[in-house]
Amino acid sequence: MVVLTKGFYVCEECKFKYKEKTIAQKCENWCKKHKSCNLEVTKHAIN
Ligand SMILES: [Zn+2]
Repeated sequence: MVVLTKGFYVCEECKFKYKEKTIAQKCENWCKKHKSCNLEVTKHAIN
């Protein structure tokens, strides 16, 4: 997981950005395990 200076957290697998660290971590765990995205998690992503 990458932490941006703006206070966003980026999933290193899918590159989605999140405001919540816990959600970004959840996304990364999911992406690494399943090699796909979980819509329940990515809906929290910031564009
Ligand atoms: Zn991800």
